[in-house]
Amino acid sequence: MLEVKNLETSYGLIKALKGVTLTAKKGNLTCILGPNGAGKTTLLFTLSGILKATSGQIVFENKDLFNLNASLIVENGLALVPENRLVFPQLSVRENLLAGAYTRLRKHKEAVNNDIDDLFKRFPILKQRSSQMAGTMSGGEQQMLAVARALMSKPKMILMDEPSVGLAPMIVDDIFSIIKELNQEGISIILVEQNATKALEIGDYFYFLNQGKVSFHGEKSEMSKESIIKSAYLGQ
Ligand code: ATP
Repeated sequence: MLEVKNLETSYGLIKALKGVTLTAKKGNLTCILGPNGAGKTTLLFTLSGILKATSGQIVFENKDLFNLNASLIVENGLALVPENRLVFPQLSVRENLLAGAYTRLRKHKEAVNNDIDDLFKRFPILKQRSSQMAGTMSGGEQQMLAVARALMSKPKMILMDEPSVGLAPMIVDDIFSIIKELNQEGISIILVEQNATKALEIGDYFYFLNQGKVSFHGEKSEMSKESIIKSAYLGQ
């Protein structure tokens, strides 16, 4: 479904991705683990068009997405849920959801409103808070809103950047249940996660990034908790 080859991305002179090659299969929950500074966020930003790569290939469902602009990438079915939620703090919950559907809003306004109603069924807390300013909600509520906002673009694949960061363990469990549920409903997921133990619970395939390169990859059955933690945290 998603084929990435020899992807290189730099911040000026700093090369953050040094030739990343990976495949995320349709329907899979593909986890990307690695220590701080490994390049995980840079990879998701490059895949979603926020950063431009210097070289490599990105093919999604047989379409070349390499260095397309971010809104075209969303239109092609890839949606990012950024690290630290990054909802629009001054907009209401409903307005945040509308922003997530901006590629469809002009032509399909009624369908978009129906989608919001559907999302409110899945996330009742967002319905209760529909006119509340997003920045005033709790971390867990903002994370749910960030996921819901991504769903508004009707993605085939969600790129999720460290959804557990800064959240209480019970809320992390809720977020991981939602991720698993979405995956079971047919949305492919790439999950960047520091919490290797949680990732191991729900992931199908694992990539380890270290210093901008894939150091190891394999199926869940090939992973032991110990090897994951060594690779994810220690970069070994
Ligand atoms: P973390 O787990 O800490 O979020 P990460 O694996 O997501 O780390 P990135 O944030 O992708 O890592 O960073 C990869 C490398 O690029 C690091 O060396 C980082 O210092 C560098 N980097 C990231 N953003 C910038 C920037 N805006 N300008 C310069 N260098 C950057």
